[in-house]
Amino acid sequence: MAYDLLIKDAQILDGTGAPACNGNVAVQDGKIVAVGEVAGTAKRTINADGLTLAPGFIDIHTHMDAQLLWDPLATSSCWHGITTLVLGNCSFAIAPCKPQDHDHILKTLVRVEGMSLDALQAGVDWAWETYPEYMDRLDRQLGMNVATFMGYSAIRLYAMGSDASERAATADEIQTMRAIIREGLDAGAYGFSFNFNPAHIAADGRQVPSGLASFDEVLAMAEVLKGSQAGLIQIIGNPNPPTPAPDNYDIIARTCERPVLWLGVLHSYSQPDLWRRNLSAAEAHVAAGSLARPLCTPRTIDVLFNLKNVHIFDGFPAWKDVLIKPPEDVIAALRSPSRRDDFRRDLQDPELRSPFSRRWDLMEVIETVHEHNRHLERRMISDIAAEQSRDPLDVFLDLCIDEQLDTEFLTVLANGDEDAAGEILKHPDTVVGLSDAGAHAALECGYGFSTHLLGYWVREKQLMSLPEAVRKLTSMLADQLGMDDRGRIQEGLVADLVLFDPDTINSLPPTVEHDLPAGAKRFIQKGTGISHTIVNGEILMENGEHVGSYPGRVLRRA
Ligand SMILES: [Zn+2]
Repeated sequence: MAYDLLIKDAQILDGTGAPACNGNVAVQDGKIVAVGEVAGTAKRTINADGLTLAPGFIDIHTHMDAQLLWDPLATSSCWHGITTLVLGNCSFAIAPCKPQDHDHILKTLVRVEGMSLDALQAGVDWAWETYPEYMDRLDRQLGMNVATFMGYSAIRLYAMGSDASERAATADEIQTMRAIIREGLDAGAYGFSFNFNPAHIAADGRQVPSGLASFDEVLAMAEVLKGSQAGLIQIIGNPNPPTPAPDNYDIIARTCERPVLWLGVLHSYSQPDLWRRNLSAAEAHVAAGSLARPLCTPRTIDVLFNLKNVHIFDGFPAWKDVLIKPPEDVIAALRSPSRRDDFRRDLQDPELRSPFSRRWDLMEVIETVHEHNRHLERRMISDIAAEQSRDPLDVFLDLCIDEQLDTEFLTVLANGDEDAAGEILKHPDTVVGLSDAGAHAALECGYGFSTHLLGYWVREKQLMSLPEAVRKLTSMLADQLGMDDRGRIQEGLVADLVLFDPDTINSLPPTVEHDLPAGAKRFIQKGTGISHTIVNGEILMENGEHVGSYPGRVLRRA
């Protein structure tokens, strides 16, 4: 018998964390049918010549909900060995959605997730109302596999209309939303997601709908998942303060009896010890049998922004009130000395939480509009301020005013402390992800988290072994999702595979393109060192090029 595909002479990492062994892998009808000393012929043979063959990587935290509609290849994830991505995180989704809410829901994505409204309006075809209809629309053409989380902000908006951003749900509304979730889970969604981050506000200045849910409401939804063999709940922010967030995640996990994946453990300059406290709490819960685990990321989270599109100050009330306005009103407000005093007071208030680090020595001027400001490019605001003997806040705001808010800045939001980032990453209880692919397309770029983990952290920094890193990118994530037919190289499992060179795999620096619908700008990030990405037994990418196939599909929870 001739196999469909035979990969010969590979260093096989099976995804369990076990060391590599040399051998062949045969694929037939989309499945792995033989591993090891495999004889026989095949319609297509790949001579691996000692390259490493691993299960395809899973990207468990993306916001590709809209992008996949116009970009079924999921660029730039396709260049990083990803064979399954998960969308619908942080409560954001575009289904279910009533026709009258189309604009409202797109605007929810614009501020927090930094998506272009022009691109969304041009690229989203609204060929659905319900969640199952959306899944069917996605399934028409896909390069890689897609698993979906239902987003609780979309569910709330669907069930409660504009009140979703105002109040907790009534008993009737809770029953309606439980039914919506049940319908999505029955159609194969892999769970649902919540958002309680107070800095996550929609274009209208109100917190996104998920954030208005009471803890009882959250637990009522969590119960819907109980009894399932697959699926999980993803959550960002604390659903029940002042009880510590990790304790609340544990309660949710005990209620649904499935994993809760929370966001997350990251180093942050504004709360430099928080990561250690959160990691200890997570460790204690896991040791006590909890299914709640924190998400982390191998990358630093940087953001490129101007004051027209920025969300990183939204946790500071005085800043938020101003920056939500149209540009001419923002400029007028920034000129006001009393407003600046309010801004300053927010920055000094240790109780306020916002992604901005409050560190002007980490705020770099990237691109100026005016010739007379060019000399400021590639310099930190703190240095410019010291040179001019002025307050950094004034330097920053005056530059923004002078350039009508179009000056581009770059700053690091999280994981700037490399020792902390490494300790988080190698901890056995942390789940690796958070590419945020599809979101913040013109602000930051995390597509390459998998290649960065293998190239930078494993090869250069030797933080963990290659088999362990591959386990964190494959079987560990499949186990969280309850996806028992993927994430390992084993006979009988689906042939999602990636063939790479551990000596050269890496992510490349991002480049700027204007290829979104309506010509909107975004970052593209390619990778090196991957020779083949195989999805459901078919080659998708070869040496960084798409071979023309679309073997992916929407994965349906059993
Ligand atoms: Zn997210």
